[in-house]
Amino acid sequence: MVVILEKNATPEQIENVVKHLEGFGFQVHKSVGAEKTIIGAIGVKPNFDTRTISILDGVEDVYRVTTPFKLASRSFHEKNTVIKIKDVEIGGNQVMLMAGPCSVENEDQIFRLAEIVAKSGAKILRGGAFKPRTSPYSFQGLGEEGLKLMRAAADKYNLLVITEVMQIAHIELIERYTDIFQVGARNMQNFSLIKELGTTNKPVMLKRGIAATIEEWLMSAEYILANGNKNVFLCERGIRTFESYTRNTFDLSAIPVVHKKSHLPVIADPSHATGLRDQVPPMARAAVAAGADGLMIEIHDDPEKALSDGPQALLPDTFLKLVDELKLIAQAIGRTI
Ligand code: PEP
Ligand code: MN
Repeated sequence: MVVILEKNATPEQIENVVKHLEGFGFQVHKSVGAEKTIIGAIGVKPNFDTRTISILDGVEDVYRVTTPFKLASRSFHEKNTVIKIKDVEIGGNQVMLMAGPCSVENEDQIFRLAEIVAKSGAKILRGGAFKPRTSPYSFQGLGEEGLKLMRAAADKYNLLVITEVMQIAHIELIERYTDIFQVGARNMQNFSLIKELGTTNKPVMLKRGIAATIEEWLMSAEYILANGNKNVFLCERGIRTFESYTRNTFDLSAIPVVHKKSHLPVIADPSHATGLRDQVPPMARAAVAAGADGLMIEIHDDPEKALSDGPQALLPDTFLKLVDELKLIAQAIGRTI
């Protein structure tokens, strides 16, 4: 940590800052310049709140030089993490596609859509059975029935399953049907839920919170890793900004930023990031070009009647055409799909 003192800081104020830092166990190095004094505080204290120092009299600024996340950081683990689930790898050279409806609605629907997913070459079927809806009057998902239908459809077409878990009480149930736990944006900072997922050994896809910084997102990944589960990957799904044309603002640069800061795979969800069907293909193409390790895309064959997120669902033909385009983009950057 680096502490910069104000130009007019008194010797007493500077000594007070030094005393505080030493009191917290830091090794202190003072450097007195012509105008300002700078203090270097050495010591790794991941949970140290820098505001403890920034509110002291005479302090102008405090900067951290280490990240507060360790296990998730690139410096802790230099090589990319590759998560293996049966014959599927997330974080490897192949860009992993996950697709399916927002919600599992009935048997016919999920089997029809699973067939499209398999036809595209995607390996993972997505679908919600327990849905985090903004309105309590909206469709909340089919619950266990939805899990059963999705597992059966995925098994028929040799696909893996990813589905959202919203509460600790459902972990055991969902674990029986899914290959990957999805933590939704609204639960990214549900620390009791993510801690508990850290004690399982099923892969967890952690979506970025609606208004979460990249650091907060990585801190949530840290919770899962610190509790023992090393199979974590991230999903950029757009964040809340002042722009209201799209449902969320797709933070494309989060992909290379996460790759720089962390060894964990990061995928993109252009469906929730834009909320509009016509915006999904361009953002999907951009995400692959930016180095996303995978994509999660919502599809539906009758989106007008979809029980959730119809306006952002791609029609099967559009989805299949998009996958062909994505293959070319992946190839251009030395990857496969
Ligand atoms: C979803 O994937 O269906 C979902 C609800 O996404 P998010 O948590 O990103 O809103
Ligand atoms: Mn959805």
